[in-house]
Amino acid sequence: MLAYIGIGANLGDASATVRSAMTRLDSMTGSRLLTASSLYSSTPIDSSGDDYINAVAAIETTLEAPALLSCLQAIEQDFGRERPYRNAPRTLDLDLLLYADHCILSETLTVPHPRMSERAFVLLPLLEIAPDIVISGLGPAQAFVTAVAEQGIFRLP
Ligand code: AMP
Repeated sequence: MLAYIGIGANLGDASATVRSAMTRLDSMTGSRLLTASSLYSSTPIDSSGDDYINAVAAIETTLEAPALLSCLQAIEQDFGRERPYRNAPRTLDLDLLLYADHCILSETLTVPHPRMSERAFVLLPLLEIAPDIVISGLGPAQAFVTAVAEQGIFRLP
């Protein structure tokens, strides 16, 4: 399966954390990293603290979506457990954005990720590596870019 993972960090050396997370995605069971976007810097939304470093990775995986989510959460845990309050700054946040063209709605997992079409820090890196990507149930990701144009984000050199 082709899956897209959103990566975000805003504590410590966030750029190094995002790059390490990509390496970890490549070494998950039955998975390999296909493409990684550039790194982006974005103003926190629904969060606090320093600006975030964000990226999106495309992976190929044999894991079922719930098992993939568990692996992502295990990687998050390995990068630190500082979650003193809801939406606190995070050492590392990994979101399962898309899992092939599947729509999943369970207690623990919603795919496509419910807020991905509203966030420039997801849409811009995603479109960088997959310009024609379609968000299942919503349509082409490109169609949502105008609506997020005011969100503070820039691509790092
Ligand atoms: P967060 O605070 O953003 O790390 O949210 C993690 C919570 O969101 C976990 O309880 C997950 O079960 C839930 N969740 C639901 N859908 C997703 C998804 N597509 N990717 C990541 N976490 C998800």
